[in-house]
Amino acid sequence: MELNELTIHAAHDLLRNKEISSVELTQAVLDQIAAVDDKVGAYITVAGEQALKAAANADQAITAGEITPLTGIPLGIKDLMCTRGIPTTCASRILENFVPPYNATVVDKLNSAGAVTVGKLNMDEFAMGSSTGHSALQATYNPWDLERIPGGSSGGSAAAVAADMCLGALGSDTGGSIRQPASHCGVVGMKPTYGRVSRFGLVAFASSLDQIGPLSKDTRDCALLLNAVSGYDPRDSTSVPRDVPDYTAALKAGLKGIRAGIPREYTDKEGLDPEVAAAIKAAIATLEDLGVECVEVSLPNTEHCVAVYYVIAPCEASSNLARYDGVKYGFRDTGADSLIPMYRATRSAGFGAEVQRRVIIGTYCLSAGYYDAYYGKASQVRTLIARDFQNAFETCDVILSPVAPEPAFKIGENTDDPLKMYLSDIFTLSANLAGIPGMSVPCGFSQAGLPIGLQILGPHFAEETLLKVAYNFEQTTEFHKQKPVL
Ligand code: GLN
Repeated sequence: MELNELTIHAAHDLLRNKEISSVELTQAVLDQIAAVDDKVGAYITVAGEQALKAAANADQAITAGEITPLTGIPLGIKDLMCTRGIPTTCASRILENFVPPYNATVVDKLNSAGAVTVGKLNMDEFAMGSSTGHSALQATYNPWDLERIPGGSSGGSAAAVAADMCLGALGSDTGGSIRQPASHCGVVGMKPTYGRVSRFGLVAFASSLDQIGPLSKDTRDCALLLNAVSGYDPRDSTSVPRDVPDYTAALKAGLKGIRAGIPREYTDKEGLDPEVAAAIKAAIATLEDLGVECVEVSLPNTEHCVAVYYVIAPCEASSNLARYDGVKYGFRDTGADSLIPMYRATRSAGFGAEVQRRVIIGTYCLSAGYYDAYYGKASQVRTLIARDFQNAFETCDVILSPVAPEPAFKIGENTDDPLKMYLSDIFTLSANLAGIPGMSVPCGFSQAGLPIGLQILGPHFAEETLLKVAYNFEQTTEFHKQKPVL
């Protein structure tokens, strides 16, 4: 096995025993990027020099006996978390040359744990999308089938982990953007509870929904990354002052006594691919063999999730993206001779079509006299969606479902049909609307060899339960160990 193929915990053991150095490990990752990223397109920026310097520092720390589970571990960061001195583009023309003067809190936390930032990963522009096809800068291809999308919006993060171009990565999830690409690329991904991880320095898309989380090669690594980035941050008023447990501690506990809810509204969903349905069914049976008791639950407001999300997210996006005006950040169209035409020209040239679509929808929904009918109404239905979960979690500890209705589709197949793309978010949006944690864990392959993920949802701050279910599942299955051949 090459060093870059290691999990974080396996690499940590070798680093701690001084069998390998972080410089060797980081070089192996950089070599892999040089070898395969031409084909995959995961990285927007590779910060090789900085990474090797950080690796050398990590090696010194290890020699001095200072080691955390992430010391010397090369990681990738989705390109919407601010990294001091390293461009942070949001895969947008408008921020193409933006170099942040400060780090996101999660980046500071990874740095102080001794992790090595390898570079910045591709995504849908401003995280709006489910295919990474809306990146204004480059395409990313699914390592399992280079003709297919990696999922999105954290498609670069998922593809980089799957293709061993980093040992783990951070993504962000506003409506599924960690879980869905994790599912499509055969890696583990978790969206933590809203408030668990600080978003200071995360470029905002929809502030009441955005959350940062890990993508990794297995569940233990997911727990390690979550340990490192979680916790209260006075610089993010939505972060919750609550202790961070050791997420690795609960992994090994068995599943006896765990009750899993199977939502009626998800299982007979129209448009659910039969191969996905079969993989989920088989995964549920495996968990039952491990002692999980399954009960049917109902989430009656499921049918409203897409409509509610696609009002709330564009409204908040239109407000958040108002700051990109050609004055304060990034790109400016210099052709115009006065302020308003300059704004218009800058935003027309700087934002891609999907971002403009969302800004227009959001601005419309928030315009005078329309607030109650759209954002206000959507917020009310959002409360009902959250209540559905509260009710369901009275009879179960976790909810099991598909992540996406189909395995990864071919590039160009659906991306020009926004409505079809939006509808494919049906299983992931509700967790963001309710603020609850959710993860995707590899649970099967289609006949064409495409990965399929199982979604595990839980009540607020039940990350430990999700991880325990995922970990036990991994112990009896081999799906997470499969590697794409590039
Ligand atoms: N696919 C959803 C959207 O386009 C979710 C994106 C995300 O989670 N960032 O809005």
